[in-house]
Amino acid sequence: MTSPALVVAAAIVDDLDSPRRLLAARRSAPTSLAGRWEFPGGKVEPGESPENGLHRELREELGVRVELGPEVPGPDDGAWPLSPAYAMRLWLAEVTHGTPEPLIEHDELRWLPIGQWLSVPWLDADVHIVKSLMSVITRV
Ligand code: C5P
Repeated sequence: MTSPALVVAAAIVDDLDSPRRLLAARRSAPTSLAGRWEFPGGKVEPGESPENGLHRELREELGVRVELGPEVPGPDDGAWPLSPAYAMRLWLAEVTHGTPEPLIEHDELRWLPIGQWLSVPWLDADVHIVKSLMSVITRV
């Protein structure tokens, strides 16, 4: 069996030192996922490091540059299982250049205030990650 392909994504917060707002992105495609919210990101390309892949995806999808903070490790060797086909690694991040815009794959972005991070219908896999992120952040 081949191992799952690696997806990388960012939990973009307003301030890495004291996160209060979290950026959620609403997918516009494919139809099966449209309308659900996710951490922006995407598939790592062959020969690309996960971090470089994440910077590329955020530039393409949102038009921003970011500083990466700590990784939010998942239960599966550090990764979050998404499906048999995909596993995801996730980093906290803060925007350093630009204002996020839904350029491709998304039709809306929303900064969720703390206390309302679960107020949108996240992709199933991302719900667990948001909950885990909330427990990490409130401990800071
Ligand atoms: O964005 P892309 O289509 O490359 O993502 C590949 C797969 O990863 C999708 O099927 C999507 O369900 C999943 N995904 C996810 N959570 C994210 C990003 C992607 O579950 N934050």
